[in-house]
Amino acid sequence: MIINLAKSSYEKLVEDAKERFPKEACGLVAGTKEEKVVEVKEVVPMTNLDDSAEHFTLDPQEQFKVAKEIRKQGYELLGNYHSHPFTPARPSAEDKKLAYNEELIYFIISLAESEPILKAFKIEEQELVSELELQIENN
Ligand SMILES: [Zn+2]
Repeated sequence: MIINLAKSSYEKLVEDAKERFPKEACGLVAGTKEEKVVEVKEVVPMTNLDDSAEHFTLDPQEQFKVAKEIRKQGYELLGNYHSHPFTPARPSAEDKKLAYNEELIYFIISLAESEPILKAFKIEEQELVSELELQIENN
């Protein structure tokens, strides 16, 4: 599976992570999904209920509202993203534990290095992590 992400969506995500630094940013990712290609069309910043540098929790009501908007636009919910202000772009033990939906793509953006690093993962059985190919498109 390959994920295509427009440069504008990538920048929106990076900006959100930087704006909320040193707290974790989080949000939903929407777009279209075919067998082998996922197109990210929307990145929607969401409230982090934990307001923390190490955890995030999406607001269920806000999530419900945004999911409805996403469907209205003809997109589907692809997954979510959150930032790691001080740690690498890979799922933490807690991220894995909370990854109860195997259909979702988990995007993690790390600000631990001088340049932001974005990676995308599938997580099976709340344990098995596989990194997905992510392509940032110039448009
Ligand atoms: Zn995390």
